[in-house]
Amino acid sequence: MHEISLVRNIFRTLEAEFEKDELEKLSQIDLKVGLLSNVEPILMQNAFEAVTQDEQRFQKAELQVNVVPIIIKCELCGDESEVKNYSFKCSNGHPTKNIIQGEELTIERVHFHE
Ligand SMILES: [Zn+2]
Repeated sequence: MHEISLVRNIFRTLEAEFEKDELEKLSQIDLKVGLLSNVEPILMQNAFEAVTQDEQRFQKAELQVNVVPIIIKCELCGDESEVKNYSFKCSNGHPTKNIIQGEELTIERVHFHE
């Protein structure tokens, strides 16, 4: 399952960024996931639960998956608009593939217990 390796990567990233005793107080991980990233929030939650079975230091943490829409920026007129129904056109009707949001999978924020 693709999501399992994503969750493991997230944990490795957190381990690189925080000290061990800080990670023990981790309460929540907020993920920012673009609609084009092919990540299913429910599969991500399942994978998170499976991985925390092995990696017990993350067991007190919860995962919050925030799905963000696809935003394009038109090269012709500079218009930024949300893509709906996979129609890659700006609000003035110019076709564009200049995606500025929607492909990401990033750790947006982490929360810690006091
Ligand atoms: Zn345009």
